[in-house]
Amino acid sequence: MKPHFISTDIIEVLKSLPTPSFVIDEGRLLSNLKTLNNIEKLSDVKILLAQKCFSTFRLYPLIAKYLSGTVASGIFEARLAHEEMPGKENHVFAPAFKAEDVEELDKICGHIVFNSWNQFNLHSDKCKNASLGIRINPEFSTQDHAIYDPCSFGSRLGIRISDMPEKLPEKIEGFHFHTLCEQGFEDLEKTFCEVEKKFGKYFHRLKWLNLGGGHYITHEDYNVDGLIKLLKYIKEKYGLQTFLEPGEGVVLNCGYLVSTVMDKVKNGIEILILDASAACHCPDVIEMPFLPPIFETLENGGYKYRLSSMTCLAGDVFGDYDFLTEKNIGDKVIFEDMALYTMVKTNTFNGMPLPEIFLLHQDNNVESIKKFGYEDFKNRLG
Ligand SMILES: *Cc1c(COP(=O)(O)O)cnc(C)c1O
Repeated sequence: MKPHFISTDIIEVLKSLPTPSFVIDEGRLLSNLKTLNNIEKLSDVKILLAQKCFSTFRLYPLIAKYLSGTVASGIFEARLAHEEMPGKENHVFAPAFKAEDVEELDKICGHIVFNSWNQFNLHSDKCKNASLGIRINPEFSTQDHAIYDPCSFGSRLGIRISDMPEKLPEKIEGFHFHTLCEQGFEDLEKTFCEVEKKFGKYFHRLKWLNLGGGHYITHEDYNVDGLIKLLKYIKEKYGLQTFLEPGEGVVLNCGYLVSTVMDKVKNGIEILILDASAACHCPDVIEMPFLPPIFETLENGGYKYRLSSMTCLAGDVFGDYDFLTEKNIGDKVIFEDMALYTMVKTNTFNGMPLPEIFLLHQDNNVESIKKFGYEDFKNRLG
């Protein structure tokens, strides 16, 4: 992804912060939320924040003004949403639930989605309040990121059509499918067609259909009109309440990771050692992998640097970049699009400090949300 324009005022603010630090951009988040809210209004869908992508709950009151609620991957996220986004939709899906958690989930979650018939049979009797659903596996891949493809061979995620009974158990009120990752409307449309072909015969029995996450809705190229049309079709033809549960789509381009150049070494190429770490602060850079956009870089032809970190892991590298200007010890490097799958995934490997988290308000004032220290490292170890 290309770096976005950042105003000089904001650059000044970002460069004045202690490093490493995450900065959440309230203005950009608001802009995404308005896009999503508009889709809710036009299509009657309910949009839920996938907390596994972003759970910096200080922003939950703002998110709650525009979205219908949240989805959790288990008891902790469900509890967080219950506490920090009270009164909103609270859905939960997990490949398996612990028996001791199900009673609490039934109290705090309006919707519980089971991943298998075993799970449904084990836990459904304990559920008195929540609307119950199952996750289905459409067995229809539209992407080639194997680790993010729930339809790949051997996937544990979702019930396949061959394992569906003739008649659905009474208590099942909805279906859930999630197969996409950073994908456009066209892939959703193809996937829905497949779902409709295979599972459509059950739709008359249901109340709701959750179309999962992975929708790149707030990306500039996304076909929002197509999405609205499909959601309306599902509502009109089958009378189903639809849900979408984007993570990335909510916080796309809403954050920065600000770091300082600690050293500059040469080994065939020039390498900058930063106080931020890919392995500790944004492991998706290595796992996915992807190259995060950086402010003040070119596609080619600038000052070439490999960006790495203070850890002792040789592979702790963000990537190779071409900067507009020469970088020296003490200079700042600003990674963009750092709100998603970062703060929820940080770790203190190598005893690396966790980045402080700031909120950049729309008037360009910054507020510290959370500062971490040595205790945060030590407390997890004993
Ligand atoms: C990860 C996940 C999401 C959110 O995915 P994004 O790619 O961040 O939009 C939604 N639902 C389920 C079941 C997920 O596993």
